[in-house]
Amino acid sequence: MNGFRYVSYAQEVVFAPGALARLSEAVQRLGWKRLMLCTNRSMKARGHVAALQAALGESLVALFDCVQPHVQDTQVNEALALAVQHEVDAVIGMGGGSPIGMAKAVANALTSTFPDAKPSIPVIAVPTTYAGSEMTAVYGITHTREKPPRKVTVNDPKIAPRLVIYDPELTLDLPPDMTAATGINALAHCIEALYSITRQPASTAMAIRGVHHINNALLRCYQDGNDLEARSEMFIGAHLAGLSLASVKMGLHHGLCHVLGGTANVPHGIANSILLPHAIRFNADATAAQLLPAAEAMGISLNGISPTVAMEALAQKISDLIRKMHLPQRLREAGATLKESDLPHLAQLGFQNGAVQNNPKPITEPAQVEALLRAAW
Ligand code: NAD
Repeated sequence: MNGFRYVSYAQEVVFAPGALARLSEAVQRLGWKRLMLCTNRSMKARGHVAALQAALGESLVALFDCVQPHVQDTQVNEALALAVQHEVDAVIGMGGGSPIGMAKAVANALTSTFPDAKPSIPVIAVPTTYAGSEMTAVYGITHTREKPPRKVTVNDPKIAPRLVIYDPELTLDLPPDMTAATGINALAHCIEALYSITRQPASTAMAIRGVHHINNALLRCYQDGNDLEARSEMFIGAHLAGLSLASVKMGLHHGLCHVLGGTANVPHGIANSILLPHAIRFNADATAAQLLPAAEAMGISLNGISPTVAMEALAQKISDLIRKMHLPQRLREAGATLKESDLPHLAQLGFQNGAVQNNPKPITEPAQVEALLRAAW
């Protein structure tokens, strides 16, 4: 057998409808006294910020409520200045992957600002999408002054959120398009974990179970956002997807989504949806054995069909799900700023991306990436 190695993190996870009300108890028990919240305007408009303020009272000493997508370096500097001014000892990210990424970036910068004076600043994550950042020790930061801007990944065990509050009630107002896009993001984490070059028994078990829950619940959440049972099952799927993402190296799909997000500003979940069937087809001949359990978990009967046919059925089933949720299916529909003439440059950047280089089917030249992007155009 092949041996394996992976890193897991000491995290406290609280999962329950209404769990936000338990944040204060956990914060007191863990000894944090001056907290800062990173979030965005829609969280404020929907009343989630007020609910968190009510839960924390005076221990919430700073608020950065205008986080933009894809964690921009200029915003990290602004939020860091606020955190230093208020001498915060823990940073909360509430919302999708962007506010949680911002909280990680601020905590990381704050720890480096006071390397001797303080232990590392902990991150608390309160996710409201299915993107999975709450379980990982990674964030992407976009260097906005580069032309074109470039998103770089930072990986450090210190920034894995120490406390994660999953409250499915906070997802009831996640709009259908964001439900769909971030749900496919979670599904993609499971798919890439299954065929990862560093997959191991725990990541595989979590990813298969994640696909099962996502397949059961995602379309129901899209069709009726107020279905708390479906929202809860989908959040469990996203949690398992995030856990599997945290413990393996991702591949082609993940790397290209980062390039499309950081350089062409394609929303993360939209890039995920468009590229996932293409990544499955691209990798099919090298990864069918690993993806057969995902096909089964999505209800595809494997009786009497070859692995090749099963992989096409899996790609098709995911395309059908994406179509039913009215997500864009072609890169040309992904955003007005993306042009077909950008594809060679994006392919070049994709080829240099670390996750792309970790793809289970070796990628030896940018032309392979460009062909995939053109197939998705
Ligand atoms: P996002 O955080 O950029 O949020 C997108 C939009 O959804 C925002 O306008 C936000 O206000 C809205 N929204 C979020 N929750 C809502 C709710 N409950 N109700 C109403 N509106 C809500 O999107 P995302 O897809 O969650 O995250 C994408 C970012 O996260 C990307 O930058 C991606 O690279 C990163 N990411 C990181 C990891 C990691 O492990 N570090 C994992 C996945 C994604």
